[in-house]
Amino acid sequence: MSGAVVSAPPRRRVRLRVEGTVQGVGFRPHVHRLAGELCLAGWVRNDHRGVIAEVEGDPLAVESFLRRVSDDAPPLARIERVLVVDAAATGEAGFVITESESGGGADTFVAPDAATCQDCLRELADPADRRFRYPFVNCTNCGPRYTIVRGVPYDRPLTTMAAFAMCPACQAEYDDPRDRRFHAQPNACPACGPRARLLDAEGREVPGVDDAIAATAAALGRGAIVAVKGLGGYHLACRAADAHAVGELRSRKHREDRPFALLTADLTGARALVHLSGAAEALLLAPERPIVLAPRRDGSAVADAVAPGHPELGVMLAYTPLHHLLAGDVGDPLVFTSANVSDEPIAYRDEEALRRLGSIADLFLVHDRPIHTRVDDSVVRPGMILRRSRGHVPRALVLPVPTERHLLACGAELKSTFCLARQERAWLSHHVGDLKNVETLTSYGEGVELLARLFAVVPEVVAHDLHPDYLSTRFALGREGVQTLAVGHHHAHLAACLAEHGETGSAVGAIFDGAGLGPDGTVWGGELLAGSLASYERAGHLWPVRLPGGDRAVRQPWRMACAWLVAALGEPPALPATMAGGVAPQAWRGVSEMVRTGLSSPLTTSAGRLFDAVAALCGLRTEVTYEGQAAIELEAACDPTERGAYELPVEGGVLDARALVRAVVRDIEAGTAPGVVAARFHHGFADATVVACTQAAHERGLGTAVLSGGAFQNRRLLARTAAGLSRAGLRVLVPERLPANDGAIAYGQAAVAAASLAIT
Ligand code: ZN
Ligand code: ZN
Ligand code: FE
Repeated sequence: MSGAVVSAPPRRRVRLRVEGTVQGVGFRPHVHRLAGELCLAGWVRNDHRGVIAEVEGDPLAVESFLRRVSDDAPPLARIERVLVVDAAATGEAGFVITESESGGGADTFVAPDAATCQDCLRELADPADRRFRYPFVNCTNCGPRYTIVRGVPYDRPLTTMAAFAMCPACQAEYDDPRDRRFHAQPNACPACGPRARLLDAEGREVPGVDDAIAATAAALGRGAIVAVKGLGGYHLACRAADAHAVGELRSRKHREDRPFALLTADLTGARALVHLSGAAEALLLAPERPIVLAPRRDGSAVADAVAPGHPELGVMLAYTPLHHLLAGDVGDPLVFTSANVSDEPIAYRDEEALRRLGSIADLFLVHDRPIHTRVDDSVVRPGMILRRSRGHVPRALVLPVPTERHLLACGAELKSTFCLARQERAWLSHHVGDLKNVETLTSYGEGVELLARLFAVVPEVVAHDLHPDYLSTRFALGREGVQTLAVGHHHAHLAACLAEHGETGSAVGAIFDGAGLGPDGTVWGGELLAGSLASYERAGHLWPVRLPGGDRAVRQPWRMACAWLVAALGEPPALPATMAGGVAPQAWRGVSEMVRTGLSSPLTTSAGRLFDAVAALCGLRTEVTYEGQAAIELEAACDPTERGAYELPVEGGVLDARALVRAVVRDIEAGTAPGVVAARFHHGFADATVVACTQAAHERGLGTAVLSGGAFQNRRLLARTAAGLSRAGLRVLVPERLPANDGAIAYGQAAVAAASLAIT
């Protein structure tokens, strides 16, 4: 035997590419730390498609590295895919972060804005820290992203932090791969970064203030209404328990009934206001920090005018250091509502905010870090998103059918968003608002340009709604040198839900909403569709009635009550006693006549308008101040102990709700409580939907049902319909990551366009 040969331990080297949202979120330091811990050699850098790295060392350590690189990823990273190939070991020692490849940007994703992390909060509260009470503390794990970015690559010069030169201490953190602030683009401190100031309603700095936030808190305590510049725009704030201040805010804002959101410093504060499930608490604490809707607690310290008539309150936790300081200093819940006058977009530019909010706010808490894109707060319930905006945007969605050609989808009109797409990725924009005026359209157009730049989308095909008068449609048709594609409103709703679930096959869909133009020129909104991403047919619909006065019927549910009574009873109805206080007899006669003759009264199959009619018949409300208000109140009114359901026959796919309306009238005349009528109505409507969907599915051999459209934000309707369909053996798909309302139309249009183009 020869002497023992001491062989070198085997080494393995791998090259890995990580794709997704992995830049500007501390991913390279994470790789660096992990390699150090596992005694691996190699390097890591950013390139135009994400992060690329090579590691070498003990095979077991490499194995462990490959697992933990994803499992222990930084909180804001969203890994889409990790590609690993083996490479020849080189025997190199040490691990380095190397320079990024230049000229990139195309496939690297700007992250959404994220709530202040625990580490930053500790510094904020530590009197010994150089960032003690600094309202702009942030790091690679938290802080502003999308709202401050002006272009790619995502680097400080292309953010609204460009004007702030880092001090030596901040620069050292920024340059140190082991530091939490390594390449944190918004990095700042009191010596070099943005600062907060308190202004009066004329825009003059309030004299003698050295801590603007403490001074604001004191003013709020005295009952002031303050416009607060935040992350994605301005909010209007006052103490939620201060009935006088809340009432004053409501009257100055000219926004009669829409509920105000609330801000608390922490979970304890939120728990005192609303009942929170575990899922709701997790949503409150998530880095997206949305407004979470939850049942209000009896006796919670909130003025009635915060959310008149609502069984729920919308609560969010502080998500910027400025909010944390302010909410902490005030010590109890704040009204924190988007600072807009009625239908205008949220204010976000300083001069504009002063001009528009000067008559509402007593004071302005401002700062000098510009907001590049205005982004509203997102709104959720457990399992349901009602507005997908701050914290979510611009995270990429997947298109189940990839598109070779770059797409822009322009969305609808209300709760407007747009969507850009290429290959298998789609970027749905922030909530732009109701696209009904020039300010909103301008902000929409700027948003399209920014997102197109950030994600290197050069639209070749532009999808739009069928409605020729939507400003989004006109925007689409005004683009030069592109192919345009009209997508039916309710098909887009169906497609959005299918695509969200990665479904490329066919399904039946009950698509219930307020209104969308159908291909037959009537106003659709209670539709039974059968189809896929690429095509659909109308399998049925709600019984059509008149929409007396068009848009006026949306604001005045009593008009829909009249239309349904004429349809159900076949004669000009007498004004029901339950509505007598809210409608002039002469107006009632006039509308009856419009319904009978059809003058200025298009036909509609809208489900939303049927809910309005029943709410009016129940005496809940004859007029609304925002869309969906009557339906929300009808749902809230339901008697939870009632088990009955009205009969609603389905024939040939048509849901004949005339019988149901007759039953409503009979019950009301017999003195049945509105809560009982409301419950029986919800049950009857859900049960008929189950019957109609099941029939349509069986006739076509389909096994999947989709429930979408804004009317399915109604949980009572959704839960009972979904349960019934499941019992009937159908697989039920409902919107989860996207709203059921028109906020998802643009994504649906993109999915339809991609699928249609793939066929032709
Ligand atoms: Zn942080
Ligand atoms: Zn500094
Ligand atoms: Fe819709």
